[in-house]
Amino acid sequence: MQIILRTAIFCVLSGLFLQCSISNPKKSIEDLKTAFNDESTASLKYSKFAQVAQKEGHDTISKLFDAVSESSNILANTHRKALETLGSRPGFAEIGSFDVKTTIENLQSAINGEAYEVQTMYPKFIRDAENEKAPQAGKSFTWAWDTGKKHMNYFRRAAISLSKGTTSGFPLTWFLCPVCGNTYNSVDVKPICDFCLSKQESFNGYVQASE
Ligand SMILES: [Zn+2]
Repeated sequence: MQIILRTAIFCVLSGLFLQCSISNPKKSIEDLKTAFNDESTASLKYSKFAQVAQKEGHDTISKLFDAVSESSNILANTHRKALETLGSRPGFAEIGSFDVKTTIENLQSAINGEAYEVQTMYPKFIRDAENEKAPQAGKSFTWAWDTGKKHMNYFRRAAISLSKGTTSGFPLTWFLCPVCGNTYNSVDVKPICDFCLSKQESFNGYVQASE
């Protein structure tokens, strides 16, 4: 009884009463595992797409795939950390199957994948986290949702550029926020991250020239 009382007092004092009051956010834990696997798969898929784009001579699109691959890795880690705060350890990611084709086909596959995350998967996961009062999961899903919207738009613009044969004008320099995975290029980079308020000095840059 004394231990329970002490725990309750600790939770209230540390501002974690809401978190402590939810004993088992089952759906959110399952959602986080699904999102962890999904982002891990996306990270590997985009790194393969980057290699194809480089071979085809589309250096700027290759850099975009590289940046989004690393962003997806950051998002996977954010989900993993959220799982750990809920007492769950995901272990190794379960990598799903995917096809690697030509760059224009890979871009369409990337757009479809991001559209599913943005329009279906993350909105449901955010609702589950709200219903279960699991703020750690909600924050991780919201960052991934907002970042996925940017990825989808970048891929759409890249597909348009490629179809017009003007990929040389697409940005070559990309920046990633290491905390939330937010992705910027040299044109739209901000001094403070839109999503988590990290400073630009902390962003990881992807500025390598093509080989
Ligand atoms: Zn951020």
